[in-house]
Amino acid sequence: MACPILQLTPCNETIRPPSKEVNDSILASESKGFKSGYASLIGKPNVGKSTLLNHLVSRKLAAISRRPQTTRNKITGICHLPGGQIILMDTPGIHQSTSKLNQAMVHTSMSTYGDVDVILFMVDAKQKFRPEDEFVLDSLKRVKTPVFLVINKIDLVPKPELLRLMDELKSRAAFTDIIPISALKEDGLDILKEILLKHLPEGPQYFPEDMITDCPEEFLVAEIIREKIIRLTHLEVPYAVAVMVESMREGQKGVIVIDAAIYVEKASQKKIVIGEKGALLKKVGSQARTEIEKRLGSKVYLNSFVKVKERWRENVRYLKEFGYTHGHH
Ligand code: GDP
Ligand code: MG
Repeated sequence: MACPILQLTPCNETIRPPSKEVNDSILASESKGFKSGYASLIGKPNVGKSTLLNHLVSRKLAAISRRPQTTRNKITGICHLPGGQIILMDTPGIHQSTSKLNQAMVHTSMSTYGDVDVILFMVDAKQKFRPEDEFVLDSLKRVKTPVFLVINKIDLVPKPELLRLMDELKSRAAFTDIIPISALKEDGLDILKEILLKHLPEGPQYFPEDMITDCPEEFLVAEIIREKIIRLTHLEVPYAVAVMVESMREGQKGVIVIDAAIYVEKASQKKIVIGEKGALLKKVGSQARTEIEKRLGSKVYLNSFVKVKERWRENVRYLKEFGYTHGHH
């Protein structure tokens, strides 16, 4: 389950966990033997980066599409394992580009190299190794971080072909390891996790176990909805409202379908947020949708519902202590 988001500054930046030093001191007693670290997922568009991320955290986070470049920002997924934690950064596909947007996306991808403990370089087993892959690989030349070659979509090729490809790619660079997987069919993911865990340094538990993302798009969407509620209702305690984006997925014709839960603390507040015959919630939904569409640059279907959850704020306070939310009361 994801966490309710409260008082978040709307922004397009990836929110980072507290600094390593701070965390080390807070969690020093707990970090014995625990392994944790960052992994960056890179590769040309459409190789399956978002699919892998989504399957590793067992929930849909990143927009998946046959259209390349659906993922515009770095997206973080948190993969909890017994004895460890992998924080994954999904990046826009790296490719030679001319447009300003593309250049910015390439920059975002490359800027993660130095910040992470391992790099997962993903290629497509069916497409083999192409010039676009070469370009990505070139960008890794001066990087000191261990690079794992992940060959995805092995469900699409016969085994001998895969073995030939693995053999060929072995000589391309000094990969720390080569891991064939099918992100879609969840084949090889356990081995991938095991290998990653082995290579991560001993470290603190950066995120609590019920937290699986600090995805900026979800934060952004939640914050837009929350802001509309506060503007349109007259709750005596506006900060009793939290919005949690439960899922974000691509539906038909590229429409992004968003399920958002609005949490309040009392039944009386629920009544206010819903309004007479649902009029207020409808207004919140339509205003929020317009703004979300503008921010995400695509059509949105927004499904929002109100839930009463007493004392949810206690949980949020806990999260705030760890630095997930950037707001203030
Ligand atoms: P990204 O651009 O690298 O993030 O790629 P996506 O994760 O958006 O995936 C692009 C397409 O490849 C989607 O249609 C996925 O369903 C498909 N795909 C991803 N992984 C696999 C896989 O292991 N096998 C097959 N057959 N298709 C996959
Ligand atoms: Mg993607």
